[in-house]
Amino acid sequence: MDQQPKLSLASLAVWGGEDEYLLDRATQVPVVHSVAFGYRDFDEWYEVATGAAEGHIYGRNTNPTVAVFEQKVRLLEGAEAATSASTGMAAISNLLHALLRPGDRVVSVKDTYGGTSLLFTEFLPAFGITCDLIDTTDTEATEAAIAAGSDLVYLETPTNPTLKVLDLQRLISAGHAAGAIVVVDNTFATPINQLPLALGADLVVHSATKFLGGHADALGGVVVGRSDLVRKVFQYREINGATLDPMAAYLLLRGMKTLDLRVKRQAENAMAVATMLEAHPRVTRVNYPGLESHPQHRIAVSQMSGFGGMLSFSLDGDLEAVKAFLPRLRLAHRAANLGAVETTVGPPATTSHVECTPEERAALGIPEGLVRYSAGIEDTDDLIADLRHALDF
Ligand SMILES: *Cc1c(COP(=O)(O)O)cnc(C)c1O
Repeated sequence: MDQQPKLSLASLAVWGGEDEYLLDRATQVPVVHSVAFGYRDFDEWYEVATGAAEGHIYGRNTNPTVAVFEQKVRLLEGAEAATSASTGMAAISNLLHALLRPGDRVVSVKDTYGGTSLLFTEFLPAFGITCDLIDTTDTEATEAAIAAGSDLVYLETPTNPTLKVLDLQRLISAGHAAGAIVVVDNTFATPINQLPLALGADLVVHSATKFLGGHADALGGVVVGRSDLVRKVFQYREINGATLDPMAAYLLLRGMKTLDLRVKRQAENAMAVATMLEAHPRVTRVNYPGLESHPQHRIAVSQMSGFGGMLSFSLDGDLEAVKAFLPRLRLAHRAANLGAVETTVGPPATTSHVECTPEERAALGIPEGLVRYSAGIEDTDDLIADLRHALDF
């Protein structure tokens, strides 16, 4: 066969994984709601049931619509294999439970997503797994903790909600030198802006609920990477039962067709908003990896092809100022979500770190007066005007 030209991510977002499941000449992936898949021939059934042949048996294990979603993310991240879960947290917790054993040691950073952080501080230690969470931007300390003995290194960059950036190349190398599996949560960056597997990571995990789906109408999670590891995660997940629903898989698939367009527009909007806010007298600090003032801007430039749609900022006047400011925004949902086509805002106390007490948030260096801003795809000038108006109180 002749060699096909390699497709760019924008084309893979539209076409990737889609060509195999067309029913009755439909051009769109069918939503298969069937719980079980029937076989007249025993031998064929047996082959599929034992994994000797491709096919579907039961919806908790695999489903044709869900399989297309997995393939699309696999192709976008440049991965060997993919599996999915009902939510981002299901993907993360199934991954950790599938790959870790009592006595194992995880090295991660303090600023992981709130739910992930709780797995490290409460749930995994109950199974005899040690989790060391290092100062997020202290690369030397993290390297030292990894070298001291680690089975799994768990990274997330940029972080939620303070947009810190980890040096992926250095920390992945440190993980591999110690013989650890290296996992990266790529939810904030998306494959359009950052490809951790190309930098050597073993697994990438996403909350597909956010940018991949992009329309705030479906929950989902996905794990992609080395096929031996993905297989273990799949085998745990099919028994654990946190299966992605076919309708959610369809909504996520439909959302992903515009991933490249959306993510580029969101990054443009975020950059414009961050630049405006940085010069605004009521704003004391802006966290956005695209700003030259960002402490890890150079690392972001070296490992990201775009800086993403997420930023956060502090108002002078703490939580009271935030309470007065938020209702004045017209073009923003005040909601615990991000990555959608609509701009979404919220303070950490009701969004990323709702699970933490004010004291725990303070210990993590997350100010109560912080506003997390997920830029949507609205007109840039409209967003700027809306923010300027809302800040004038
Ligand atoms: C939202 C989020 C998660 C959890 O995903 P759910 O789909 O809400 O379970 C994990 N990691 C990051 C970075 C997130 O933003």
